[in-house]
Amino acid sequence: MKRAVITGITGQDGSYLTELLLAKDYEVHGIVRRSSSLTRSRIDHLTRDSQVYGERLHLHYADLDDATTIRRILQKVTPQEVYHLAGQTHVAVSFEVPESTCQFAAMGTLGLLEILRDCDPIPKFLHISSSEIFGSPKESPQNESTPHRPITPYGVAKSFATDMVRVYRDSFELFACNAICFNHESPRRGESFVTRKITNAAARIKLGLDDRLRLGSLEAQRDWGYAPDFVEAFWQMLQADEPLDLVLATGQTHQVRDWLDIAFRHVGLDWNDYVELDERYLRKADPQRLVGDSSLAHERIGWKPRISFSLMVQLMVDAELQLLDDHRRQ
Ligand code: GDP
Repeated sequence: MKRAVITGITGQDGSYLTELLLAKDYEVHGIVRRSSSLTRSRIDHLTRDSQVYGERLHLHYADLDDATTIRRILQKVTPQEVYHLAGQTHVAVSFEVPESTCQFAAMGTLGLLEILRDCDPIPKFLHISSSEIFGSPKESPQNESTPHRPITPYGVAKSFATDMVRVYRDSFELFACNAICFNHESPRRGESFVTRKITNAAARIKLGLDDRLRLGSLEAQRDWGYAPDFVEAFWQMLQADEPLDLVLATGQTHQVRDWLDIAFRHVGLDWNDYVELDERYLRKADPQRLVGDSSLAHERIGWKPRISFSLMVQLMVDAELQLLDDHRRQ
């Protein structure tokens, strides 16, 4: 039985990756921050399952900057694969807490690489990098060789970590890869991201629980994919013959406005009646031209996204309606 360690197991991607690896008969070991103990809702369905939890799914407590404890966990588990997903991923928040963002995203990743270097045998390693490393790119779409030009503290930290993974791969022959992910969403996305904000508001307004949605720029553009599609690629990258950095993206750009159109139409409403501009949500700096070219991922691991943009938005609205209905029944 293969053993995998996942940092950030309680996050959106961590929970989907856990489900995928369990379905592939892995033993999964999640590293959980002490403070995450109250926010484990995304894996509650797994930790409540007595056939899974304590049998094939194990949780270990450690902060990412606690090298001693992480080293001890890796020595005990001796995983074949390590998936490094943990980190403060909210770009706007990274302007409020730049030091801790860098402490975790940049130095946390370096610390992990240092621990891996001493493991025997050394597990394969995947770092979840971000399109934020491209910031304000001179070329569009962006691929694996597009220069990093980050414009947010989060982007700078991720750029450092991405380069460090490459340096350890080249210098110490680690099987270490970067999945350079463009935005990816799902019903498990955090509620402060614009996608969840919109799908949640559409459902709440439809049910008469709210009548306003306050947003920043409606023209902001992103390449938005579907998270469960992305975690498939994470696994495939560690099964490939050689370690690679790969861009994971849909190749399509949409505006915040497109989310509004599809989400509100899905519940039979016109968003113009409910949306207000709120300057608090405008960013000091916001990447403008982010769109990924994942043709290398297609060529090397046969990956391409499966779910379309409009289906994803509709599916997220349906999940919000279901969630609100469940709450009402409780
Ligand atoms: P990010 O790409 O990781 O920063 O994901 P977000 O979902 O936080 O933001 C995506 C885009 O939506 C950015 O360009 C934001 O400026 C824009 N946006 C517009 N209104 C809002 C809002 O109310 N909240 C958030 N989070 N983003 C907003």
